Amino acid sequence: MDQERLLRELSEFLRIPSVSTLPAHNQDCRAAAEWVAAELRRLGCRDVEFLGSDTHPVVSGKGPDVPGAPTLIIYGHYDVQPPDPLGEWTNPPFEPTIRDGKIYGRGTADDKGQVFCLLKAIAASPRPPINFRFLIEGEEEYGSQVLFDLLKREPQRVRADAVLVADMSYVAPAWPAVYTTLRGLCYAEITVRTSKTDLHSGEYGGAAPNAHEELCRLLTRLKGQDGKINIPGFYAPVKRPSKAELAAWKKLPFTEKDFLQKRVQGKALVGLKKYSVLERLWALPTFEIHGILGGFTGEGAKTVIPAEAGHREGQHAARAQPEARDCRKAARRGSEAVCAEVCDCDRAVSPRRRSGADQGRPPRVQTAG
Ligand SMILES: [Zn+2]
Repeated sequence: MDQERLLRELSEFLRIPSVSTLPAHNQDCRAAAEWVAAELRRLGCRDVEFLGSDTHPVVSGKGPDVPGAPTLIIYGHYDVQPPDPLGEWTNPPFEPTIRDGKIYGRGTADDKGQVFCLLKAIAASPRPPINFRFLIEGEEEYGSQVLFDLLKREPQRVRADAVLVADMSYVAPAWPAVYTTLRGLCYAEITVRTSKTDLHSGEYGGAAPNAHEELCRLLTRLKGQDGKINIPGFYAPVKRPSKAELAAWKKLPFTEKDFLQKRVQGKALVGLKKYSVLERLWALPTFEIHGILGGFTGEGAKTVIPAEAGHREGQHAARAQPEARDCRKAARRGSEAVCAEVCDCDRAVSPRRRSGADQGRPPRVQTAG
């Protein structure tokens, strides 16, 4: 295939700022859906449809029928994460740029690049004896509600012999991988209220409770300094990897030093030391704080004792479905453990469903290279 043409077409797709979480980009999401639909039609798909939403539709298409052949669903998404903070970008996020043989731009590696590669690979190969079905959604970064609702209404859409989720990455350059499980995700927002209103710290400090302090104290108790998550039952459903899996992981081109310096770019790695970093990433669940809200965050200073503090957390189960459900229960337990400690927090638990394909990022990997 003509590389220049492929790059031009990929860049066209990447230039659409299809940020699903921001309503200002609704029309861009629709434009990205149109782009996918046109590609599916070019592939010879019939019944190309926009399902479930006008602005973030699931784009569905059926490849040519091959009687007796297995049916493969290809899943991917055309929406992207918001590009903030913009100052961190070397090139503008929606102006794809090539440097050192790599293309940089929002969506390049999640998930437009992967969707593009698959569509073009199918177009370039002599037709394999497979009944292709495509479900390319536009709300993956925003909880996949449209897709969930659609599949609840029309479960027959996922009747297939296999599903290929085109939303993951190589283990290392030149090491392609087939991911065999994914982490699930349970997202929750909790609110701690310690008094009726904010108070002046000069007047009340030292005697009035501070919502941020209480929240932080409770949150740090949910995860020990050694990285152990102290939510009852949290680790109970975790299956340890087999010896063969662990042996295979040892052969991967992965070092903890490189991971820290080149990928994490942080000061140190954390987590349960008795497990390797790959086990911590691929075989164990995690609990992460995603944001803390409240108090005074504007410019300057305000001597406030915040009455309310909010916090967003996510818990990733180690294995895909059954554990994801258990993780949900555990999330409730975790949040309830917090609530039980704090006065007057009636809005405390609101777990949110967020389980698009790659919400959790990679657990198990089988290398194909
Ligand atoms: Zn993705």
